[in-house]
Amino acid sequence: MHGISIAEELLRNIEKEAEKQGAKKVKEIYIEVGKLLFPEPSELEEIFRILAEDSIARDAKLVITQVKVKGKCSNGHEQEITLSEDFDPHAPAFFTCNICGEELEIESGKEVKLMKLVIEK
Ligand SMILES: [Zn+2]
Repeated sequence: MHGISIAEELLRNIEKEAEKQGAKKVKEIYIEVGKLLFPEPSELEEIFRILAEDSIARDAKLVITQVKVKGKCSNGHEQEITLSEDFDPHAPAFFTCNICGEELEIESGKEVKLMKLVIEK
């Protein structure tokens, strides 16, 4: 399932970063999450909580900032993509330009980025 592998990778990055900083405990985790991956950030949080149960990030507060979905077509029209209510992040997504109708290439909205950790040494 896509959500689990993304959360696993996020946790690995957090553990690596925490180790680099000599953390005993991770207190806060700031991440940016594309809406295309997780239209509902709570879904990521739920999976993460389960995976992080035995990790250094067990009791950490997870602060999620959503990243809007933006795309650009081959004619250079950039635009924000509004996802429909029933958008399914597990299905292949296809969006078209609202000016010329060409297919849009996704420029943002499908990433999970670890921005900052607050740790205890
Ligand atoms: Zn266009």
